[in-house]
Amino acid sequence: MTYFDHNATTPLANGLSSFVKPYFEAEFGNPSSSAYQLGRNAREAIDQARVEVSELIDAEPGEIIFTSGGTESIILAILGIAMNLPPGDLILRSAVEHSSVVSAMSFCKKTFNLKESLIPVSKNGQLELDLLDPRARLVSVMFANNETGVIHDIASLRSRIGENVLLHVDAIQGVGKVPFSFKALNIDLCSFSAHKFGGPKGVGVLVVREGIEWQPPFVGGGQELGRRGGTESVPLIAGMGYASKAMRAKLKTSYFAELESLRNYFEYELRKYCPFIEVVGGESLRLPNTSNIIVPSVVGNNLVSYLGDKGICISTGSACKTNSFSPSVVLTAMGYSSMSAVSAIRVSFGEGNNESDVDLLIKEILNYCNENKVKDLIK
Ligand code: PLP
Repeated sequence: MTYFDHNATTPLANGLSSFVKPYFEAEFGNPSSSAYQLGRNAREAIDQARVEVSELIDAEPGEIIFTSGGTESIILAILGIAMNLPPGDLILRSAVEHSSVVSAMSFCKKTFNLKESLIPVSKNGQLELDLLDPRARLVSVMFANNETGVIHDIASLRSRIGENVLLHVDAIQGVGKVPFSFKALNIDLCSFSAHKFGGPKGVGVLVVREGIEWQPPFVGGGQELGRRGGTESVPLIAGMGYASKAMRAKLKTSYFAELESLRNYFEYELRKYCPFIEVVGGESLRLPNTSNIIVPSVVGNNLVSYLGDKGICISTGSACKTNSFSPSVVLTAMGYSSMSAVSAIRVSFGEGNNESDVDLLIKEILNYCNENKVKDLIK
């Protein structure tokens, strides 16, 4: 199998499964059972993970709230602000957000009688800040797009909206791929997820800047300092801490520069044979590992299935939309026609990929084009 779908999920960091094994076995204590050592060990594992995670994103450990993943983090962030806004207030998101942001905002709009507006994006996937509605109380924007890898200019967004508007950033595709500083970006709330950077699935983080007007939508047993109820998943949280530490070390190496070269090699070589491909967001600053290309006349989903049958894993875009034949909302928001948008595929590079894997991928894309009589596209 050749895996090029690292924006969908990633393999576990080296050594992670042995690190967390004791928490599935002998160290099974409840972190709230502080009367005895078994419980205190579990608490210590969580505290340690909180520190590792906060160091990865340059936030304070006290600002970290563990959740069941990226989606829950996003819902808590948006609900925890929107539920206290007076009816008629405006909430804002970009036109290319993940479905978890789209559905959380739409729920809040209906339930709390709010108004919702969109920030459009340019053909290159950049936020059109001149078209932003200045009356917003809450803005939610992704740091980097999961389908195209385009990185948004969060600093310019902040200076445009000013200090008084609450800013939530879905950094699920940025954290663990490029250096990310919660403090330097001056954001209020931020979501990210362990399984996108070598951690386990089912655990994520909501970062809430100290002192902002956010309220937990549910409290339950008071865990996470009353900000997210429910007995913590010690093994998954410990695993997220482990992956954060490993990723922090990796970000200091040439690993991501090498991935970027591999991504550029793929685009360059494919274009040699197939000059009509278009690299979506190719003019923008992008995540080093992500390539979204339009192969004209091809149905992206069919190409993805063909490659899947050959043991090559890629996708058309968002992992949760893989079985959908509707054109990508992200690409249509960027101004691509529905025809072009259904011809897009996403290749996301990561651990273990090398040039010979890329050569194989290109060969099979060309085979598909030949077998499906889109030969005229190929040199
Ligand atoms: N936001 C973005 C940009 C994503 O790419 C994803 C997952 O693909 C999510 C949110 C949801 O994260 P999770 O799978 O941890 O719930």
